[in-house]
Amino acid sequence: MTEVAAARAQALEDLLVEKGIVDRRVVDDVIEHYQTNVGPLNGAKVVARAWSDQAYRHRLLADGTKAVAEFGFGGPEGHRIVAVENTPEVHNVVVCTLCSCYPWPVLGLPPRWYKAPQYRARVVAQPRAVLAEMGLVLPDGVRIRVWDSSAEARYLVVPQRPPGTDGLDEAALAGLVTRDAMIGVAQASSPQADA
Ligand code: FE
Repeated sequence: MTEVAAARAQALEDLLVEKGIVDRRVVDDVIEHYQTNVGPLNGAKVVARAWSDQAYRHRLLADGTKAVAEFGFGGPEGHRIVAVENTPEVHNVVVCTLCSCYPWPVLGLPPRWYKAPQYRARVVAQPRAVLAEMGLVLPDGVRIRVWDSSAEARYLVVPQRPPGTDGLDEAALAGLVTRDAMIGVAQASSPQADA
């Protein structure tokens, strides 16, 4: 399926280039930009600040788009970013049931599994089971909220700050915030015990 989709995308690109509608270099530049310049590091900075700065956290939860713009993040596929916060009681996970809507300015390009029909269909019906299969086993008492991203709103999960991180600055905290944690299929990493 994914091979078919890739072949189809390639065929479309070839056709657009052939017709002179698209410049192949521009396509490469866009992909390169979102893979290397943007990526989940932007989101990690946002989450690290929310963990360190209560006022920023409130701004982020009130208006994600505006709060990420404080870092200069925004643009295509990020016109409305909504931040949802994990707590000991509630765990948030994001999907796009329709296609693959994703907050590019903070997370870069979506991983392949996010676009897979299996994830998109099953995480809604059986979120606890899907998360467990992905390595995230949540206690029974934790409620799971599934957010359906769309062109109208793209969600960013603010994971729980891991224990043992009190002394860490924002840069060190950002290093614990993985892409998967910001989609809600993992927790933030624990700090490595220094040898
Ligand atoms: Fe979508």
